[in-house]
Amino acid sequence: MARRFWAAAGLVLALALAAGGVQAAPDVAKMTGGELTAFTRQMPKGGELHNHIAGATFPETLLAWAVEDGLCVNVKTLSLTPPCQPGEDLKPASALAGDDLLRTAMIDSLSVRHPDFQDRSGHDQFFGAFGRFGAVGSKRGGDSLAAVMDGLARQNTFYLEAMVTPQGAASRFLGAKVGWRGGDLATQKVANSAAGLEALVPAAMAETDALEARARAVMKCGTSEAAPGCQVTVRYLVQAGRVGPPEQTFAQLQLGVTLIAADRRWVGLQLVAPEDHPQALANYSLHMKMVDYLTDHGRTAKAALHAGELSFKYATPEDLRFHIAEAVRVAGARRIGHGVDLPLETDAEGLAAEMAAQGILVEVNLTSNDKILEVSGKAHPYAWLRQRRVPVSLSTDDAGILRIDLSHEYARAADEGASYGDLKASARNAIAYSFLSGEGLWSDPGVYRRPAKACAGQIGKAEPKPGPCAALVAGSDKAREQWRHERLLAAFEAAVR
Ligand SMILES: [Zn+2]
Repeated sequence: MARRFWAAAGLVLALALAAGGVQAAPDVAKMTGGELTAFTRQMPKGGELHNHIAGATFPETLLAWAVEDGLCVNVKTLSLTPPCQPGEDLKPASALAGDDLLRTAMIDSLSVRHPDFQDRSGHDQFFGAFGRFGAVGSKRGGDSLAAVMDGLARQNTFYLEAMVTPQGAASRFLGAKVGWRGGDLATQKVANSAAGLEALVPAAMAETDALEARARAVMKCGTSEAAPGCQVTVRYLVQAGRVGPPEQTFAQLQLGVTLIAADRRWVGLQLVAPEDHPQALANYSLHMKMVDYLTDHGRTAKAALHAGELSFKYATPEDLRFHIAEAVRVAGARRIGHGVDLPLETDAEGLAAEMAAQGILVEVNLTSNDKILEVSGKAHPYAWLRQRRVPVSLSTDDAGILRIDLSHEYARAADEGASYGDLKASARNAIAYSFLSGEGLWSDPGVYRRPAKACAGQIGKAEPKPGPCAALVAGSDKAREQWRHERLLAAFEAAVR
């Protein structure tokens, strides 16, 4: 069936050299839109490194949950509110079923399908949406996670690094209670511990247990009706808010580092919320110093930081000069979220060369950057990064608000000039540059010509041979996920050849 599909798709095949002989590589530039959509959906995409679970759910689903949970709709602000006494501007969410106009307006309000909805910019429409559906609340976190996991599996993709804020309110409250101790980070850290920061770690672990238990229950994992999403491996990145007083950001980061040391499911730090917010801008350099201090420049915990999610529309030339450079050089970030303004930074070529040499990956979110920053097509640095061999991996950012999925971003990348080889590298990079523990299956991540010695000649096979390769795959989370991806990739390429 696969052969017939590809013959019908009328693929133009280009010859490409690959390990083990000559293979025909699909020419994605020649595909029609329909061919590209089907192709990228079926292609194994390795994993996703930039996915905020809170923004991943489509509005239709959020509204269905609002009905189940007895929430109300504020018809004036077009937002969800907690269970309420219906009044002038408030209606039970169940009323949406009989009110098509209101339902349509709510879907518009909770997504960027009309980025200029209510005369807002795409940026304001996007960031405001979180508040408008916030009443759905963390009790649906496991449902959201299940939807993301199952969505990825149905796109032939089995690794997720999900961004979540553990003990968000408690850590902010603790930071506020301690207050700012004048900028001496060692004093700040001790004061947070004295105020009970470490006690939040078991609470965060219990919260993670509950999140996963709910996701597994939703997907019926472990039963004969288990959803494909049960096969997805998940790790988590700690979100710390960059908008707010510095003591709150610091407390969230400190909790993150402590949680990462205590629970192997948590693998790295992130800083979130609009980078162009006045407080985020004012404290940017301070936040980089916090990450550097708390992680010993990435030695005790890894960081993937949103940096350079800026454009002239939302930042001054002064603010466009240094964010990525400081994330890399001061904070010691191993990955950069977005990186859109990199070509605008001081000595951009030098910075890109440094990132290429150190293997610092950029998580590229094409649709997000288009809708929020209005940077797309030729203006987007995706091609510029590839030319400079900065590792890149495609991701969705907030798939529900943006109304996309990961395959959509792969198709969009091809539309904007990425070759099949680029897409394949993006997929492999999603595991090689993940924060999964253990040695990888490749000696040359980002290039993928030299397998680890133990597995030379075996990558893409069904099972590793007993011996050093089997031991590597069994003993390393990263190698195990790479083995699975390479097996899927070999099957996919055999089908499309
Ligand atoms: Zn993001």
